[in-house]
Amino acid sequence: MSSLPTDVLFPGAFQSRMQHELGEAWPSFKEAHEQPAPVSIRINPQKKFSPALPHVLWSKLGFYLETRPVFTLDPAFHAGAYYVQEASSLFLEQVLQQAVDLTKPLRVLDLCAAPGGKSTHLLSLLSNDSLLISNEVIRARAQILWENIQKWGHANVVVTNSDPSAFQQLPGYFDIILVDAPCSGEGLFRKDPDACQQWSEDSVNLCAKRQQRILHEAWPALKENGLLIYSTCTYNAHENEANLTHFINDHRAEFVTLRLQPEWNIDEVVLNPVVGYRFFPHSVQGEGFFISAMIKKEPATRVKIKSNGKFNLATTRVVEQVKSWCKNPDWYKWIQQQDLIIQVPETLLPEIEFISSLLYPVGKGTAVASAKHDKLIPEHAFALSNSIATNHFATTLLTKAEALAYLRKDSLFVSEGLKGFGLMCFETNNLGWVNHLGNRTNNLYPAAWRIRMAAES
Ligand code: SAM
Repeated sequence: MSSLPTDVLFPGAFQSRMQHELGEAWPSFKEAHEQPAPVSIRINPQKKFSPALPHVLWSKLGFYLETRPVFTLDPAFHAGAYYVQEASSLFLEQVLQQAVDLTKPLRVLDLCAAPGGKSTHLLSLLSNDSLLISNEVIRARAQILWENIQKWGHANVVVTNSDPSAFQQLPGYFDIILVDAPCSGEGLFRKDPDACQQWSEDSVNLCAKRQQRILHEAWPALKENGLLIYSTCTYNAHENEANLTHFINDHRAEFVTLRLQPEWNIDEVVLNPVVGYRFFPHSVQGEGFFISAMIKKEPATRVKIKSNGKFNLATTRVVEQVKSWCKNPDWYKWIQQQDLIIQVPETLLPEIEFISSLLYPVGKGTAVASAKHDKLIPEHAFALSNSIATNHFATTLLTKAEALAYLRKDSLFVSEGLKGFGLMCFETNNLGWVNHLGNRTNNLYPAAWRIRMAAES
């Protein structure tokens, strides 16, 4: 929240437009911007973490916190037990639950995915035999996305770093495409006053054009009767309903009308044939957000998935060992890329192989181990995986202070007689690996992930 009054903070043109659009609600809208933004998290249902906190009304996985803790200093955050996510955007859960049969094996594309809020949410909602392609065009952001995906612990995912146009190589392939578009960010003015500074009418127009291009490029990859979900964190009609009106003039689709509970206070936007849902911070306990979903009503020829032999399966000796590390080994296949042993769901292997050859994959499945001199060194991602058989390894339950020292990559642990790879745990979740050497312990927490913040005094 900014310490500046909204009259100073809000750009003039934004202020006049919103005042005109909101009418009587304008003072409440302004007042909401003078209050702190609510803090919310979304839990990972695959990990053991059940907070006694008030629920986000439209999400079974979302909870509000009373105050904003320093998340970096919470080991459960690094274990992937929860993701810090703005409450309004958790409405994606309603869209999926109301518009799709989530028990089916679905092919899903999250086209603008970094840092991974909606992708990790999707992974929690989709069945295990569904496949998520989580894409981010900006390379550095794609790395952050891959890190967050690994923390979430699912293997039915590929993270790619491709331009939206690249997905035209997969015509008619996806059941669901989510375009959480880059936007002018009007809905985040309360949380991020810098977004106010950067706002201009020119930037809105630029965003609207870019959003149209992204939608247009994504469309061929959607199946007939597939679902396109479009969302932004802006109120701006140019970027929302006007863009969708423009889109529907060129494409055949039906908008989805969702059931809303009156106490949610979400605004339905109906601009025949466009239907969307808008969230205002003075009406909901969350930030500004817009979301709309439409079903494609155009025939689409489906891409033929061809196995191209690009993946090498891991050797029988390796597979025998990694199978014993895994809770449900019959579900997976293991491939080897240089030293890296990667686990992917068996049924998805041909598709992951094919897609990886067309796009720029940053990561896929779960990296289980590196093969070094006839030995398997477990990978960090596997410690966080939902498929790890934790009881196969020596586990050490850490206090919060010890866990933070481990996450800083300090060498604090002395193994008394223990030998081999062991898991460091906080509460009920794994944090990562150590190597017990009998008289000392090597901390194997990845250097790139280590926390650099000192503990709170
Ligand atoms: N879906 C993400 C989440 O829930 O964590 C947030 C996505 S953010 C609103 C929009 C993303 O689009 C950013 O990561 C940005 O880098 C990416 N982006 C920027 N320009 C783009 C473009 N021309 N095409 C596709 N994505 C773009």
